[in-house]
Amino acid sequence: PHVSRLIAAGEVVSRPLDVVRELVDNALDAGATRLEVEVEGGGLAVVRVRDNGAGIPADSVALAPVRHATSKLEPTAAAVEHVSTLGFRGEALWAAAQAGELHLVTRPAAQVGASEVRAAGEDVTVRRTSAPAGTTVTVRNLFARLPARLRTQAPAAVEVREITALLGRYVLHHPGLHWRLTVDSEARLTHAPADHRGAVASVYGPLSANRVLRVEAEDVRGVVSRPELTRARRDRMHFSVNGRPILAPPELEKAVIEGFAELLPAGVAPLCVLDLTVAPEDHNPNVHPAKQVVALADLPDVAARVRAAVAEALAAHPL
Ligand code: ADP
Ligand code: MG
Repeated sequence: PHVSRLIAAGEVVSRPLDVVRELVDNALDAGATRLEVEVEGGGLAVVRVRDNGAGIPADSVALAPVRHATSKLEPTAAAVEHVSTLGFRGEALWAAAQAGELHLVTRPAAQVGASEVRAAGEDVTVRRTSAPAGTTVTVRNLFARLPARLRTQAPAAVEVREITALLGRYVLHHPGLHWRLTVDSEARLTHAPADHRGAVASVYGPLSANRVLRVEAEDVRGVVSRPELTRARRDRMHFSVNGRPILAPPELEKAVIEGFAELLPAGVAPLCVLDLTVAPEDHNPNVHPAKQVVALADLPDVAARVRAAVAEALAAHPL
């Protein structure tokens, strides 16, 4: 049972990037407006996410690293069909504690003292402490108990590059929050954009912000590049569904390009950041461990709304 537990944990969390994503998702689910991410040693030595969100009440904090314990979903099949939070499986903190050492300090703003949880493998200890409101989760020595996983990890520089790109995608889709990334004790990035345009400036440089137009349909919001300033860049189409950055299905990328109609030369892909809102029962984020692939119940309908929203944004800003 011990070995199978480690293997299962290694599937939830297969690299430091997964830890960063899960901890950031938890902070966003907790309503945080300030998120600080720290990594050391490419994330294998330390991943830490500090947030100013709701915190975990003292009476339930011992459950945080317990497998399948989640505060976000009633344990019914119906609830799984209506997921509106980024987390819902109750496995991330558990997996982090199996694959490495978990340290969590948390305090809801209205609670007097804070709680501290340490969990590594089977051992869980909870103590009272003092701390600012919010939650800090630290995962140390990831895969120290999983040497086979450790051997197949990417070099630290590669992992840091991917973590930086992941945070960039969160910044693009969650403007209005304050983000900070520290790598090996050096401040790497600070993002505090007011809106999508500011987020594009923050992630891609100030000149890029002049390149974009707002898309303001009710359920498709964000920015697309001005056609006259659009060059071929395949990697700059970003979509989120209900706040979760996703790997976009080709149908959505195609819909954006179609929204430009004849304004775009063939083979050129625009920059876009589009946040899609769909009814919880019309999407299923439960098809992939990393939850970056979501199944949309009516993809053609979503694509049609994207196409129309882009076309409308372009029509509102004639050349
Ligand atoms: P899930 O997110 O799927 O519920 P996790 O293992 O990621 O599972 O987290 C377990 C539980 O711990 C969450 O349901 C939540 O109640 C609590 N939690 C974790 N991280 C935070 C955080 N940053 N702020 C507040 N609560 C948190
Ligand atoms: Mg979670």
